[in-house]
Amino acid sequence: MTVSKLVFTPLSYTGWGSLQQLLPEVKKYHPAHILIVTDPVLKDIGLVDKVSSPLIKNGYEVDVYADTAPEPPLALGEKLVSYAKSRKFDLVIGVGGGSALDLAKLTAVLAVHDGAVEEYLNLTGTKQISKKGLPKILIPTTSGTGSEVTNISVLSLESTKDVVTHDYLLADVAIVDPELTLSVPPKVTAATGVDALTHAVEAYISVNANPATDALALKAIRMISSSLRTAVENGKDKEARTQMSYGSYLAGLAFFNAGVAGVHALAYPLGGQFHISHGESNAVLLPYVMGYIRSSCVAKMRDIFEALGGNVSSLSEEEASYQCVKQLQSLVEDVGIPQTLRGFNIPESALQKLTADGVQQKRILARSPLPLHEKDIRAIYQSAYD
Ligand code: NAD
Repeated sequence: MTVSKLVFTPLSYTGWGSLQQLLPEVKKYHPAHILIVTDPVLKDIGLVDKVSSPLIKNGYEVDVYADTAPEPPLALGEKLVSYAKSRKFDLVIGVGGGSALDLAKLTAVLAVHDGAVEEYLNLTGTKQISKKGLPKILIPTTSGTGSEVTNISVLSLESTKDVVTHDYLLADVAIVDPELTLSVPPKVTAATGVDALTHAVEAYISVNANPATDALALKAIRMISSSLRTAVENGKDKEARTQMSYGSYLAGLAFFNAGVAGVHALAYPLGGQFHISHGESNAVLLPYVMGYIRSSCVAKMRDIFEALGGNVSSLSEEEASYQCVKQLQSLVEDVGIPQTLRGFNIPESALQKLTADGVQQKRILARSPLPLHEKDIRAIYQSAYD
């Protein structure tokens, strides 16, 4: 009998209009000074006002910190944590895509710890997180990362990415309101949507998958694959945005508990070295990694093909797993993401360094159903090249 550990964010509100739950939740914490962590685009388009105005009207003192950037570099994390330490906040609200949410949860926890953020990094850090930190409410504005329900904060380093991770980084409250995603541009909708799909696919084939994460992952794959093309074509489609919002949330719950694997391990160096967004890095590699590991998980890939809308009735598991890879490739193509590394202007000479950095992601690679060694990683990058 295998024992599985399942950890969920204590409280989530999902669905159209769920942002209205923010004020009653904030009131429970009686905060004197609230920090909102967001990004400059969301401030400019007025989306942050939708979050802050009801709080300010109700007499709360609110600081909006929007001097952030996508795929946040470590230095940004250091700066924001120092800022929070220099003031007295007692509640942190993250509003944005994964980049802003990751910074918000990092700040809420490390604002009450000594030392630099760098010392808490997973691969190279030496310090342990020991205190829960400030309460945090996370409000995603993309349907992608699932950061609102994970205990992970991802930071960009010089040539790869690393994470700060601890259950104290979990949100106290997640508010997943699809209405906040209506303004996401098509390119970001595509990249974040395939990111969410990748979370669900990798959680499903992970060696740590269990019946609970399988149920979450398959439902996520169904919802995302049936709505992503529409959400990219017509961002104002309420039904597609709602499906994507739930799909991304379920995929987040699935991968947080089962883990991601080869696609993410190989995507981190791409993002780190070539500043390709996390979603696009995952998207370009997804069909190639799945094609490479197919023989190790044919039955699971048959299930994924079915959840993607494929008809499995007359196919062997082997044939269905092959069709699964093709279907993933079509989805990436249909939403307009380049399908090769060459399509991102990556030179072939970069494959060696990408491989060397990919090999370092041992914790993530350990969840692949097919062990991926240096020669395998190099072969996958090579197949994805052109
Ligand atoms: P993002 O947060 O970087 O946002 C991408 C762009 O979309 C930004 O320019 C942002 O301003 C814009 N945007 C966001 N919401 C918008 C809206 N509603 N309307 C208009 N524009 C909007 O993108 P992301 O993919 O959500 O997050 C990526 C980051 O999350 C990466 O650093 C990645 O490594 C990390 N990540 C974290 C986890 C986790 O569990 N913590 C999981 C996967 C990825």
